[in-house]
Amino acid sequence: TVKQTGGNAWAVFDPQMAVDERAQAALVAALRSAVARRQLELFYQPKIDARTLRVTAAEALLRWHHPERGIVSPAVFIPLAERHGLIGEIGNWVIGEACRQAGVWRQQGLRMRVAINLSPFQMRQDDLVDRLQEALAANQLQPARFTVEITETLALENTQATQRTFERLREAGLHVAIDDFGAGQTSLAYLKSLPASELKMDMGLVRDLATSEDARKIADAVIRLSHALDKRVVAEGVETTEQRDLLVAMGCDELQGYLFARPMSAAALGLWAMDDGANASPVFAHSLFQ
Ligand code: C2E
Ligand code: MG
Ligand code: MG
Ligand code: MG
Repeated sequence: TVKQTGGNAWAVFDPQMAVDERAQAALVAALRSAVARRQLELFYQPKIDARTLRVTAAEALLRWHHPERGIVSPAVFIPLAERHGLIGEIGNWVIGEACRQAGVWRQQGLRMRVAINLSPFQMRQDDLVDRLQEALAANQLQPARFTVEITETLALENTQATQRTFERLREAGLHVAIDDFGAGQTSLAYLKSLPASELKMDMGLVRDLATSEDARKIADAVIRLSHALDKRVVAEGVETTEQRDLLVAMGCDELQGYLFARPMSAAALGLWAMDDGANASPVFAHSLFQ
């Protein structure tokens, strides 16, 4: 059999595709019960202030402990959940769990924001902001200490539902970040209209900094314009000291990436944050206690 792949390209049907489809159906079935079976966990990755090297925030990154496959990446299962109507339940679990953890850290005196990622479906839910407010209130958290990260493409989606959610997030006083900025087609002029106070520079741009003059020019322009529009810039995917030094020199506000820390369990992040230099890490926990 032959399958049209678009344009003038034709590909021979691959029997492996049927296997993949069956494997996917099994994965979806397993995902359906993942929340009930407590197979989901939030890992956290710190964002670091570029000047003080203090931890400013911990971004929650979802992990699925699949009984046979081990940890499945959210890059794989979030799109699946989105397509099969499972993202509502999973997203609600993330909100509740991240707020609970933020409450625990606050009680321990750790002064950092907690950030979560929102999916397109959630941005179209009418009750998203109510739900966030309830979860925040239940854990005595100030909305301004909580960040929602929304991808650039989604932020520019002009549906009424999405725009209304943006307005309500702003009214509720939550901190909004635009994720993966620079990965899409957005012209810098759009930056002005984006209803956010934080912009996360996509790791694709960060990756090329040390080797590409163009990447440096773009990063520099993004940082300058963001500052002119009163937005903080966070660079994601910082892996090398060269990238870090270039970003600091350009005035980037915050840094996040494997150079500082990988995403880790809540318990591990607590320990990492409280580790007072035993491993000569430049990011010391005492800076978190104020
Ligand atoms: P994101 O929000 O842009 O998160 C950044 C991703 O880059 C994470 O992948 C993180 O583990 C990875 N990363 C961080 N530092 C580095 C680095 O220095 N080098 C490299 N190569 N990678 C780095 P992860 O955890 O696999 O998450 C992938 C995406 O899945 C996230 O991208 C986010 O869009 C989505 N996601 C994760 N958790 C959730 C969630 O709870 N809800 C929703 N809706 N989406 C989520
Ligand atoms: Mg994110
Ligand atoms: Mg990102
Ligand atoms: Mg991403």
